[in-house]
Amino acid sequence: MAEDTIFARIVRGEVPARIVYRDDEVTAFHDIAPAAPTHILIVPNKTIPTLNDATPADEALLGKLLLTAQRLAREFGIAESGYRLVINCNRDGGQSVYHLHVHLLGGRKMTWPPG
Ligand code: AMP
Repeated sequence: MAEDTIFARIVRGEVPARIVYRDDEVTAFHDIAPAAPTHILIVPNKTIPTLNDATPADEALLGKLLLTAQRLAREFGIAESGYRLVINCNRDGGQSVYHLHVHLLGGRKMTWPPG
């Protein structure tokens, strides 16, 4: 069931994670398999499986995910050098955990286009 993704369990505190920020709406934690020196995932506390499932009622929450990423980029010292935010959606997007999340990647030069 949608509530039982690994990220929902991290949000509920049932699965350990290296949490770097949390409040009533969002939680951020280090990716378990980092693809860059800094790789943090920012997730809404409520379960939204994919970006396709977000609605206009989630507008502020979606903005908060980005502003949280912006602030964490500063805190982790990659704001000036640069970073990449990624949201994978569904199969072709490479999504593997069906709880909306923003990847914050930095600490190395990113390649373009992505694979
Ligand atoms: P995506 O492919 O966009 O769905 O990204 C899922 C990400 O979650 C991957 O980068 C995984 O390494 C990461 N991940 C999976 N399980 C965990 C976990 N228990 N704690 C932290 N990150 C995880």
